[in-house]
Amino acid sequence: MELIKHFWVGWVGFTLIMSSVKSLFDVNIWIAFAFLLGSVIVDIDHYIWYVSKFRKYNIVDCYSFFLRDRDIKVYRNKFLVLHKWTSLILVLVVSFLIQNFILLMFVYGWFLHLMLDGK
Ligand SMILES: [Zn+2]
Repeated sequence: MELIKHFWVGWVGFTLIMSSVKSLFDVNIWIAFAFLLGSVIVDIDHYIWYVSKFRKYNIVDCYSFFLRDRDIKVYRNKFLVLHKWTSLILVLVVSFLIQNFILLMFVYGWFLHLMLDGK
């Protein structure tokens, strides 16, 4: 859960998509934004896990917990559904089935997120 790292890598992807693909396919900003969103929003499951575990809603405390205490036992036993490859593959299949390019770009951002997390 390193939001700043995920945001900047997603931002690089966003700008690359906007600068390179736009001229080829006349892509709109939502496709690039979907990539950026996919590379960052995946960490929402950390917050959901934190709230369900500790009944605390402070997002700053949550962020500090995951940066500071990521190796403690309670964290190692967590289940983060958005950090599972099976979840990503399911959404990838759905994006192909419904032929939604925006969802596909979201999955590409998500894929990058999991690679950066070392999953
Ligand atoms: Zn993550």
